[in-house]
Amino acid sequence: MPDFLSPTERSERMALIRSKNTGPELLIRKLLYSLGYRYRIHGIGLPGRPDIVFPGRGKVIFVHGCFWHWHREASCKIAHLPESRRDYWGPKLQRNRNRDETVRRDLLERGWESITVWECQLTDLPALKAQLVSFLGKPQKG
Ligand SMILES: [Zn+2]
Repeated sequence: MPDFLSPTERSERMALIRSKNTGPELLIRKLLYSLGYRYRIHGIGLPGRPDIVFPGRGKVIFVHGCFWHWHREASCKIAHLPESRRDYWGPKLQRNRNRDETVRRDLLERGWESITVWECQLTDLPALKAQLVSFLGKPQKG
């Protein structure tokens, strides 16, 4: 996230990113639907409230913004620590990462496999499709 936003712009952007039904999530749901998958959304009652749930397969998908969930891959062009207040942002974003990892383990203990789709992956849809099919198995099984 650029660091030149005004406080108002920043809080608006934070609200947008944090709310459900964000752009990347909708796009991935459309992609899954077009591939023939059926799913539920916002897994209420599951650890971390996964964005997309496949009850028949015991699988869930999280759609994560690269900034807030600190996508620490060299290939990611979005995630970065803001230039200012690094002593604030570093621990904050690290806590988000730790929470995501705890959620992943909690889900696994309950028999749910999870993957994370990162917003930067939306720039390569063929690769994303291949990853989703590989994770979920063939469509039309619920
Ligand atoms: Zn990323």
